[in-house]
Amino acid sequence: MANTIKTKVGIIGGGPSGLLLSQLLDLKGIDSVVLERRTRDYVLGRIRAGVLEQGFTDLMREAGVAERMDAEGEIHNGFEISDMGRLHHIDLKGLTGGDTVMVYGQTEVTRDLYDAREARGGKVIHEAMDVQPHDLTSDAPYITYTRDGEKCRVDCDFIVGADGFHGVSRKSIPEDQITEYEKVYPFGWLGILSETKPVHPELIYARSERGFALCSLRSQVLSRYYVQVPLDDKVEDWSDERFWDELKARLPEDVAAKLETGPSIEKSIAPLRSFVCEPMRYGNLFLAGDAAHIVPPTGAKGLNSAASDIYYLYHAMVAHYDEGDSTGLDSYSETALRRVWKAQRFSWWMTSMLHNFPDNPDFDRKIQNIELEYFLESEAARASLAENYVGLPF
Ligand SMILES: Cc1cc2nc3c(=O)[nH]c(=O)nc-3n(C[C@H](O)[C@H](O)[C@H](O)COP(=O)(O)OP(=O)(O)OC[C@H]3O[C@@H](n4cnc5c(N)ncnc54)[C@H](O)[C@@H]3O)c2cc1C
Repeated sequence: MANTIKTKVGIIGGGPSGLLLSQLLDLKGIDSVVLERRTRDYVLGRIRAGVLEQGFTDLMREAGVAERMDAEGEIHNGFEISDMGRLHHIDLKGLTGGDTVMVYGQTEVTRDLYDAREARGGKVIHEAMDVQPHDLTSDAPYITYTRDGEKCRVDCDFIVGADGFHGVSRKSIPEDQITEYEKVYPFGWLGILSETKPVHPELIYARSERGFALCSLRSQVLSRYYVQVPLDDKVEDWSDERFWDELKARLPEDVAAKLETGPSIEKSIAPLRSFVCEPMRYGNLFLAGDAAHIVPPTGAKGLNSAASDIYYLYHAMVAHYDEGDSTGLDSYSETALRRVWKAQRFSWWMTSMLHNFPDNPDFDRKIQNIELEYFLESEAARASLAENYVGLPF
């Protein structure tokens, strides 16, 4: 094929996983090509995660893309849980012996990664259509795609599927070679972004009779708020005014009284799902990030789990190319999945503890109430929550 590129690692997906991996590999002299279906503006327009674990921020520093994050990101030493109108502080720093999280939007992370790839002359090909990986179990896998109507091909040693939950990579693995584990929750999150001052300096996770709410933020002038909604609700059902009224009704009265409202600049509903695909490798295709696993956003683990995959994959590839040692690649799936499942457990647990499950029997509701009460009263239990929230070690 005329338009054939040769590289070491062909990466499908130009989200945070794919970009971070290509940047890290590049710094070690390992060439890669990133194929992204969308335009750069489209990718940067997606409003998603915002809470970064220490491991993620360290990886951004290792990738040489942390300057703006360190200048503009906000360190959070803790967060609040509001239980039926009463605030309880979770002192992450105190409970973990010094660990914290950073609030810095996924959009900004992605922007910094794109800028870094551009500055180093990285190959990120946007609007790559009909992307398809081939010959995955051979030593010479390749990817085909179409760009501007022309058929193109990437020849490589390895393919990394970093193309999110709906991507083509996972679907290219024969069904009998993988097992998919899934839990779909009976509600979604309606989220808005507004150019208003956050109601509280730290995040507030609120459980109320009317359902869950989250007060989050991207900066001191940009707030992100969510309310739990039934799965069949539509964005059009929710005027800004209705959203603000509902959010206030789920917060403690003194917090609601301080809430600054304004027009939403983004509004969307996301269904909540737990999902893991095992194994995360098929031949010379490696899955990473949302392509292999999804969590409900309650524990802020989605982007952070993607980062731990990239950490393992990056180190495994460096060992392979620099030292001819492929043990890291051989154990990638097992190693990554161990941490993935811990993040799954934590996200499921936070979701189960804080949301209203309309069809749950009374017994389950009683257990849910006492579970939260126990966690708020017990220092040991709060320490466990804090340890997971700041992120387990890679
Ligand atoms: C609505 C929403 C809200 C979220 N909120 C949070 C949150 O608050 N906290 C949190 O921790 N996590 C959150 N997440 C999860 C977090 O955003 C993801 O875990 C993170 O984006 C994973 O990064 P990724 O690079 O693995 O996948 P993605 O960000 O999905 O990137 C995959 C990329 O691959 C591209 N792609 C897809 N198919 C193809 C193809 N066939 N060919 C080429 N390219 C393709 C896509 O366009 C995309 O750019 C949220 C996710 C969603 C969807």
